[in-house]
Amino acid sequence: MKVEASFVRSAASAGDLPRDGLAEVALVGRSNVGKSSLLNALVRRRIARTSAAPGKTRLANIYRVVRGSGAPFYVVDLPGYGYARGGSGEFEGLVAAYFARVRLKADTTSAVRSVRLQPDPAALLLVDSRHPGLESDLEAWAWLRDTVDGAAIVATKIDKLARGERIRALREFESACEHSVLPVSAVTGEGLDELWKLIDQLANNSSSRKEPRSSHNSNPPRATARRPRSE
Ligand code: GDP
Repeated sequence: MKVEASFVRSAASAGDLPRDGLAEVALVGRSNVGKSSLLNALVRRRIARTSAAPGKTRLANIYRVVRGSGAPFYVVDLPGYGYARGGSGEFEGLVAAYFARVRLKADTTSAVRSVRLQPDPAALLLVDSRHPGLESDLEAWAWLRDTVDGAAIVATKIDKLARGERIRALREFESACEHSVLPVSAVTGEGLDELWKLIDQLANNSSSRKEPRSSHNSNPPRATARRPRSE
């Protein structure tokens, strides 16, 4: 399926984040977990800069993605956590501000219109498949699970593990997080089809959450999506 992706901008603060109502899927994870590589592999282009040096960027990088005939959405690459000695405080500072922005903006009357249009972001937590159960990842997951409506876990660099190791690692992740974990590799492409399905699902759910709950007779175009196909 054809994928179009473009870099929109780096956001230094909440004010730079999208306000045009498109769905957002945020990538969250420790520095060096492989976020940039995964994004490049997904869009089959070197759109995000990868680096061996961890913890460089403190900004959210925003990309606009269109897949096939699907609706455009944003992928928001949030700053990596886990290298500064801030522990959960660091996570709070960098990532929480992003997810809190809708609530923060709701307090300012001038922004109410854009708040109404902006869907709640969904989140993908990226964890390194070689390191199950890191405290910073578990804290991040606990926080996301409680805060974000659509959140899922992706285990990166799965190509680095032998068969036996990967089964053990995934089991450890799933038991520590009490949630399923999708193994992927930006190098071999393993798991990317499944990841696209997950992203489509999160983006669609995100955009369907944008309607104010009070809006009358909001009829999502479900019938079309569910029409049985004659194949
Ligand atoms: P980010 O800081 O989370 O954006 O991480 P990067 O995408 O820059 O990746 C950090 C390092 O891990 C780089 O050296 C990448 O080449 C490597 N890396 C990322 N994804 C994979 C993967 O799926 N497999 C392997 N073997 N290496 C990876």
